[in-house]
Amino acid sequence: MNCKEYEKLIPEYLSHKMNYPVLKAFMEHTEHCENCKEELQIQFLVSAGMARLEEGDSFDLQRELAEGMTSVRKELHRHERFLKLGYVLEILVAMGIMAAVIWLLI
Ligand SMILES: [Zn+2]
Repeated sequence: MNCKEYEKLIPEYLSHKMNYPVLKAFMEHTEHCENCKEELQIQFLVSAGMARLEEGDSFDLQRELAEGMTSVRKELHRHERFLKLGYVLEILVAMGIMAAVIWLLI
């Protein structure tokens, strides 16, 4: 993902509409590109800040953004673990079928 693509995706990230592969690429870019990280922070501050100002709440948006990213990261890890588990299960099922076939043939 390059910086242009990243910028276009920021609103999607902020509205939590991203799917897993895009989100993964997005988070990777966030970690490696200071400019885009800053851009994300600004856009987050603007969109969340506007909503908050209307509600009149006090807020700590920097922290909120950081917390949001931490939970996204956790979500990604969970997803990856799940994918791996699915892979292992598939292998086990395939082995089970093979064993059954071999057993029938013998
Ligand atoms: Zn970038």
